[in-house]
Amino acid sequence: MVAEKDAASNNPEDKNDVLKSTQTVIQLALEKLGYSDEVFELLKEPLRMLTVKIPVRMDDGKIKVFTGYRAQHNDAVGPTKGGIRFHPNVTEKEVKALSIWMSLKCGIVDLPYGGGKGGIICDPRDMSFRELERLSRGYVRAISQIVGPTKDIPAPDVFTNSQIMAWMMDEYSRIDEFNSPGFITGKPLVLGGSHGRETATAKGVTICIREAAKKKGIDIEGARVVVQGFGNAGSFLAKFMHDAGAKVIGISDAYGGLHDPNGLDIDYLLDRRDSFGTVTKLFNNTISNKELLELDCDILVPAAIENQITEENAANIRAGIVVEAANGPTTLEATKILTERGILLVPDVLASSGGVTVSYFEWVQNNQGYYWTEEEVEEKLERILVASFNNVYEAAQTRRVDMRLAAYMVGVRKMAEASRFRGWI
Ligand code: NAD
Repeated sequence: MVAEKDAASNNPEDKNDVLKSTQTVIQLALEKLGYSDEVFELLKEPLRMLTVKIPVRMDDGKIKVFTGYRAQHNDAVGPTKGGIRFHPNVTEKEVKALSIWMSLKCGIVDLPYGGGKGGIICDPRDMSFRELERLSRGYVRAISQIVGPTKDIPAPDVFTNSQIMAWMMDEYSRIDEFNSPGFITGKPLVLGGSHGRETATAKGVTICIREAAKKKGIDIEGARVVVQGFGNAGSFLAKFMHDAGAKVIGISDAYGGLHDPNGLDIDYLLDRRDSFGTVTKLFNNTISNKELLELDCDILVPAAIENQITEENAANIRAGIVVEAANGPTTLEATKILTERGILLVPDVLASSGGVTVSYFEWVQNNQGYYWTEEEVEEKLERILVASFNNVYEAAQTRRVDMRLAAYMVGVRKMAEASRFRGWI
């Protein structure tokens, strides 16, 4: 058993290494739960990691070969599940970490899945519609042997959307020679998508903010909210907070941030943002993302990318609650600083689990061929997320650990138990 003090790395290179950070917390969680080293050996990396080369004919007639990944972390509980990211900075390590986070999320909200994740190194902002279609179909052909409705079910993530899911579903259905809506989630409604999937991540984050605010005695009505990232997660979240009576005083995208202490016009910004979550290019008076994170506010929501709150800026964060809509936005050192400063941090594996929860609903509806109303989806999501938040919060109080470690303890237990019952460890 590795002692708690040894588990955290002192190597500065490890600090922004999301895989290493995840492994550190998994190790601590397993140790606190009394599991042996073998369990950590099994869970510290995905069971399977496929790297593929995808040749795509570009519009100029030339062939470009893209690199893609699919990681399947642990399928003891059930088929693996997780999104596909299209981004120039995708790495093997990042995809592995993301697949582990998916396992934890599924454990926290108690879904019958393990975690998976995929990614392609590409910049969809520089590609045409048809090039994106050829890349999406090529990726499915490349990974088709290890995915499927009962094996591994993909979904959207950064820079992928319902159109890309539709192409992927169509390609898989051709390979399978069977219409297979349950192969992928996040599809358009007409192809078996679920009501509420597009806004599910933001809805889940909104529920976590509401529950966290209750614990901290913060009134949502009039609370000052800052959201980093204005894509799927961030923009809908800003809208929901605005509609709940909060004052969204800051938002940002990859190019900068907007700040108005009197509250931004969220409906206007939503109307003007492009499909990649960019809106600030339309304005002259922008602030940097660094300045945005340090704004005086009640609730801060990082909803963009990894490693945004670090030991360099954690002391300057002025929010009372930080709720991680993005995956991995806060380093472990920053988590410690925020917790010591009395800031309630709701971790990614809990806060952003609304997306996979409604993806699960979509898969269930596809499997039974019977579709639910938006109200049914919302009511089920609300019930699951409130229970999950309180479960993690109580674990944190009882075990006297921060919410991240508590969430890992809740999330890791189910896959560890399932692996044990299967006789793997
Ligand atoms: P998205 O592609 O729709 O939007 C990303 C947003 O982040 C855009 O506004 C983009 O401009 C901004 N951004 C990119 N680089 C940035 C940078 N360096 N600084 C500041 N902003 C930057 O992606 P999304 O689906 O909203 O995902 C955002 C985060 O939420 C990711 O970490 C993702 O893994 C996580 N998440 C998303 C879902 C989902 O269902 N969409 C579910 C769970 C977790």
